[in-house]
Amino acid sequence: MPTALAHFIQTTPLCSSHEHLRSETNYVENGPDLLQNLFDNYVSADLVVAGAGQTAVDRLLNAADPDVRGRFTSVERAWQRVRHTGYGEAVRIIARELYAIEEISADSLEAALPLHNALRQPGQRLHILRERANLDHVQTDDFVRPCHVDLSGPDFFFFDISWRKFVKGEPDLAELAVETGVTVHNLATLRQAMQAVFAQNAAVAVAVKAQHAYDRTLLWRERSDAEAAPVLDAYLRNPESLSDEDRLCLGDWSLARGVELAIEYDLPFKIHTGYYAGHSWMPVDRIKPGHLCSLLRHYRDARFVLMHIGYPYNDEMVALAKHYPNVYVDFCWAWSIDPFSTGNFLRQCIHAAPSHKLFVFGGDTLWPGASLAYANQTRRWLTRALQAEVTDGFLSEAEAIALAGRFMRENQYDCFRIEAKKRAAGGSKVAG
Ligand SMILES: [Zn+2]
Repeated sequence: MPTALAHFIQTTPLCSSHEHLRSETNYVENGPDLLQNLFDNYVSADLVVAGAGQTAVDRLLNAADPDVRGRFTSVERAWQRVRHTGYGEAVRIIARELYAIEEISADSLEAALPLHNALRQPGQRLHILRERANLDHVQTDDFVRPCHVDLSGPDFFFFDISWRKFVKGEPDLAELAVETGVTVHNLATLRQAMQAVFAQNAAVAVAVKAQHAYDRTLLWRERSDAEAAPVLDAYLRNPESLSDEDRLCLGDWSLARGVELAIEYDLPFKIHTGYYAGHSWMPVDRIKPGHLCSLLRHYRDARFVLMHIGYPYNDEMVALAKHYPNVYVDFCWAWSIDPFSTGNFLRQCIHAAPSHKLFVFGGDTLWPGASLAYANQTRRWLTRALQAEVTDGFLSEAEAIALAGRFMRENQYDCFRIEAKKRAAGGSKVAG
């Protein structure tokens, strides 16, 4: 018999504030085969770290190779080493939920092949996400600026405006000209093109997003037009000519303009902080969320959504959420990176920061099966963390349920203006 808390978390629709989901067409026509559905997610990095060679992992994920047994067997030793990590747990959840596989093996995988084909039919992507994962809606960063209404689920699939290339300090000016009709030849026209991006996309977009932590330090400094103008001139003459310091200057200037526009258009600004996807390349010093303090201090009217709990700098993140009214903390991907730290972090936040600031889920995945698994995993660990609060006497069960409702849904509705976005999407559905 589940507790009332467990029942509430299981049955309440969960908002996903961060995914990289591929489109319906892409899913149906070029979607994952069985092994990709299970392993083409974060676990592939764990497999390499656990000793599977990159060649074996590439083979595992190569759908053109029909030898399912051989593909799995080549990583099986590493799989046994990672099956209990958060990423491994998610793979086991996909196996059980979608294929009724209790123990992943070459035999059980081969037996599941017929089941897989039914999952790639039109409409299954939405069905898996909305009905089976019980998600309220998803917010997708598909790595591009233009946002559109997704006709496969107009009031379910929402998109971020990608600001990454700007903040990287390497604006893609040719694409920008095609999108906006503005040819950039100085700082004023760059500003004009940025304004056009918002004018074109803000009504449909749910947020702005930058994951420049993969490209450069998160440390931000205010840059004047006088500092940025000669850098842009040099970039226009020869994009290869910029030094790292030049790119930081142009990137910082561009981030500031993006934040100003996000304020003007009432959109939250999401920033990747903390841990890297992949393996063997993360420089931990440049990913600290605390590097953003000058930006947070400078733009008090913005709503900054700091992603992935800044892991492993989650203690620093509690302090930011507590100190800055404009900081929201997104748990996207964090439960699968390190579920115990994430559960403890949630408990720390409850007793340190206001409760309207936390968004508890984002699967951060390409395929709906993985998103389903990460949602299931979030529900499990969220239940454990809140149940511990009740058991330890810090919260009544009713209080724990109220907080779960906030973290799963109400906070996202407030910060991302979801009611209004759904209404607007409903209108565009009627308009076709
Ligand atoms: Zn992501």
